[in-house]
Amino acid sequence: MVLKAKILTIFPEIFPGFLGTSLTGKALEDGIWQLEAINIRDYAFDKHGSVDDTPCGGGAGMIMRPDVLGAAIEHNHQGGKIIYMSPKGMPLTQAKVHELSKLENLTIICGRFEGIDERVLEEYSIEEISIGDYILTGGEQAAMIMLDAVVRLLPGVLGNAQSTENESFEQNLLEYPQYTRPIEWKGRKVPDVLMSGHHENITKWQRQQALQITAKRRPDLLEKMLDSE
Ligand code: SAH
Repeated sequence: MVLKAKILTIFPEIFPGFLGTSLTGKALEDGIWQLEAINIRDYAFDKHGSVDDTPCGGGAGMIMRPDVLGAAIEHNHQGGKIIYMSPKGMPLTQAKVHELSKLENLTIICGRFEGIDERVLEEYSIEEISIGDYILTGGEQAAMIMLDAVVRLLPGVLGNAQSTENESFEQNLLEYPQYTRPIEWKGRKVPDVLMSGHHENITKWQRQQALQITAKRRPDLLEKMLDSE
């Protein structure tokens, strides 16, 4: 199965951007996933390519028009989920990333200005996803971050299929501290237990460290972990 991602944007030139490099870029080249950036302006009704208008009820900024966006969606959507990148959406989590990585078609709408007309979200049963509690200038950056996380999980993208298992968030735990050579650097030594060759002790130490760091930085995750046990 090949993931087909379609991006609706007024800045198609941003893509593939960093998704064209490193692991995601190689996967794109290898045909593990496909990316098509569609210019919403191509569906405008006037020759200026207008996609936005002033908000009903007043207020600052501009809103993306439902008719133009609707035309872009209807011409390009070929089934599957439609997502609108939005600060009002449900937060993107690693669990959500796993869910999205199992889909074949993903249509992603990138907002600009103050966002899009609410009726579009209702008409096409669009899911809203936020990448965090802060406001970006556009949905393109958010879409790229989401796709980066999704593509990374597609079979064949990471060399070692095991390597995601112990990562931060996979068990609602942040990752334990990691070290490599040299064993001593600026007077700081790699913890002895990691050099002991005693696998049971190493695993125990790593679990303890992960619990400690999660308790300190993300008590919300620890609660989720305890709930799921
Ligand atoms: N007025 C809106 C913010 C608009 S920001 C509000 O207060 O909710 C412009 C566009 O950037 C949005 O349409 C959305 O597509 C994107 N965007 C901004 N912040 C985002 C976030 N945290 N996650 C996902 N998309 C975001």
